[in-house]
Amino acid sequence: MRTGSPRHLRFLALLTLAFITASLVAQEQSKPKPEDTEVWSPVPKIVTPGATCGAPPSDAIILFDGKNLDEWVSAQDHSPAQWIVHDGIVTVAKMAGNIETRRKFKDYQLHLEFQIPANITGSGQARGNSGVFLASTGPGDDGYELQVLDSYNNTTYVNGQAASIYKQSAPLVNPNRPPGEWQTYDVVWTAPTFHEDGSVKTPAYATVFFNGVLVQNHFQLQGQTLYIGKPFYKAFDSAPIKLQAHGDKSEPISFRNIWVRELN
Ligand code: MG
Repeated sequence: MRTGSPRHLRFLALLTLAFITASLVAQEQSKPKPEDTEVWSPVPKIVTPGATCGAPPSDAIILFDGKNLDEWVSAQDHSPAQWIVHDGIVTVAKMAGNIETRRKFKDYQLHLEFQIPANITGSGQARGNSGVFLASTGPGDDGYELQVLDSYNNTTYVNGQAASIYKQSAPLVNPNRPPGEWQTYDVVWTAPTFHEDGSVKTPAYATVFFNGVLVQNHFQLQGQTLYIGKPFYKAFDSAPIKLQAHGDKSEPISFRNIWVRELN
C-alpha cells in the first residue's frame, strides 16, 4: 500500500474510527453506575416476627394519627402535603412527590407503620418502594434513607431491601410480613454533627427494629445514602423527616401511626 493512496487513506480512517470507538467504550465503562454500589450477598436470613405494639408514649410528638397531614408539607415547595388521608391511614400520592415534617429534628426515636398493598405488583426495587429519610437535608440532597420496600419474596440487592440503610447496610435479618399486613419500624437516630468548617465531628448512627426485630444495630453511616456513587457527608444542623413517593409503577403503599420522641 502506497502512502497517500486511496487504500492507505481508507485504512487510516478505519484505524482512527476504531481508536475513537475504543476510547468512548472505555469512557462509558469507567463512568460510575448504580450497580457499582449494589451488594447481593449474603442474603439476610428470614425471621418470622412476633406481635408488635406501637401506641405512642405520653411524651411523643404525634406526626400522623389518622386524621390529617397538618404536621407534613411537600418536600419540594413546603406547600401542604397532598397525600391521601382516608380510613385512618395515609396513602402515597406518587404525583404529589415526597412529603416531610414541618418540624426539624436532631436525635430522636421514631415509630411508624406501613402497609404494602395486598395486590402489589412489580419486582426488585419497583415493588412497593418508598423510604423514610431520617434526615431530609434539602431538595438537592439525597439525605439519609431507611428503605421501605416489599422484601417478602422479592429479590433485590440486599443493601437496598426493606430496612436497609440504602446502599450502606443490609438488614441483619429479614422479618418482612406479607403484602397486605401492617408492619412497623422503630428507629433510634443519632444525627451527625459537624465542625464550623463543615467537616464531620461525629457521624450519624441508626438503630432499627423492623416488626420488633433488630435489623440495624447502631450502624454508623458513611454519609448520605446515594443511588450512584460513594456516600459523603454534607453539614446540616437539624432536619425534617421525609417520606418517599418513589417513581416506580407499583401500587402505592400506605402509612399510619407515626410518632417521634426527641432525644436532645
Ligand atoms: Mg426508597
